[in-house]
Amino acid sequence: MKFLSQTFNIRTEKGPQFIDITERIEEAARESGVSNGFAVVFSMHTTAAIRINENEPALLADMERMLEKIAPCSAEYKHNEVAHAFSDNGERPNGHSHCQHLLLGASEAVPVVDGKLIVGQWQRIFLIELDHGRDREVVVQLMGE
Ligand code: ZN
Repeated sequence: MKFLSQTFNIRTEKGPQFIDITERIEEAARESGVSNGFAVVFSMHTTAAIRINENEPALLADMERMLEKIAPCSAEYKHNEVAHAFSDNGERPNGHSHCQHLLLGASEAVPVVDGKLIVGQWQRIFLIELDHGRDREVVVQLMGE
């Protein structure tokens, strides 16, 4: 059984922002020496998600619009009252970011076969910033033989 755990630091610029991290995960898969197993890609945050989809700019704009429709930034959130109350800790009102994250999720699992990450022709792995630009941590964990 082989095992590799790596943490990437990623500086995001704005929210929403789709950041294609597929190549970093492929590199980690190569470094791990795992021939057959899987990679788990995990966001350490409640307002930055991990999802697989197509990296096509018009589609990314569509998906940003969909997120804004589902949980608009301008809507009222109870969490924002708490965030204001504790504004000393630096959290901005971000109820919409948490609600969007709930629908996306924090991780994806991707198969590794014959030493290569298996993704479909149009599949890319994204870190999705849902809050404002900041430092983010993504853990990739590889397990297998
Ligand atoms: Zn928050």
